Amino acid sequence: MKNRVARFMGGQVIEWDTQELAPLKPGEVRLRVDVCALCGSDKRLFYGGAAVVPGHEVAGTVVETSRDSGVPTGQRAVVYIQIFCQTCQNCRSGWENRCENAEQLIGWQRDGGYAEYIDVPAHVVIPVPDDLPLDVAVLALDTVGTSGHGLRMALRTQETLPSKIAVIGCGPVGLGCVVAAQDAGTVEVHAYDPNPTRLGMAEQLGAVPMPDPEADRAYHVVLEASGMADARSMSQRLVRPGGAILALGDSADPYTMPATPRWRRTDCFTVRTFYFPIADTERNWALLRQIGPRLRNQIVTTHSLNDLQRTFERFVSGDLIKPCIVSEHR
Ligand SMILES: [Zn+2]
Ligand SMILES: [Zn+2]
Repeated sequence: MKNRVARFMGGQVIEWDTQELAPLKPGEVRLRVDVCALCGSDKRLFYGGAAVVPGHEVAGTVVETSRDSGVPTGQRAVVYIQIFCQTCQNCRSGWENRCENAEQLIGWQRDGGYAEYIDVPAHVVIPVPDDLPLDVAVLALDTVGTSGHGLRMALRTQETLPSKIAVIGCGPVGLGCVVAAQDAGTVEVHAYDPNPTRLGMAEQLGAVPMPDPEADRAYHVVLEASGMADARSMSQRLVRPGGAILALGDSADPYTMPATPRWRRTDCFTVRTFYFPIADTERNWALLRQIGPRLRNQIVTTHSLNDLQRTFERFVSGDLIKPCIVSEHR
């Protein structure tokens, strides 16, 4: 069986490689990639190149399985990004996202989903319930999973549930926060994005535009989902004493605390989170049952693997919010 895989050469060039698939390794499972969502973090690989096949937001169907994997062929699944060890204290306590021995992420240190097939260890395969289409289920990973977990961590710092929270940056993670915040019971989500289209999407999903983006000390919880330096300083201005900033935005820039009087005299939490524990999956499915199709219709555009180069070009130009590579064999 042959596998066509994308090679990110750097300088915005994607080349193609067709390989004969090696025999499946013990304990692994082979999936046909039905959906692979582009992630903002992949832009770095599009520019800088990658040693492995990128693509870490993968939904697919098991086509081959090794003995004792416990995963049947035909199983529809999403793939957990981190190859967690299953044995450290955190893994045994259900915090796979905090694994102390994890060395590999799918699409970063081992081959990912911009391919026809992907082999992964059986324990990172998360079965998808029959009633959820895979282009909705894939949003349980970085979009709703990462933001929902981050939000819960940030809310845990607060004695009472805030009646309003701020979301800065209305890309997929920010929009996931808009959805997750309403699900958590927050009454008002005030969204900010300089891009009116993205802000409009947040409104469609139930947020209101932030009434005063210049405000000082206005929110108990501020979710910073853009990673931009301006947005980070904005979150540091907006947070109330005792509040929390959730720094979710992905960026190569350092996250700094300026030594200004305003920032010196701030008593607050900065919360940084990574991905989500697998136990969150059930609540993420429940959330996607309610809002998933609407979220998908708002943000997802579908593209073929053959169009990956063009899709990335449009993605980096800001043209697309959550492009998904969808297999024609699906
Ligand atoms: Zn991602
Ligand atoms: Zn571990």
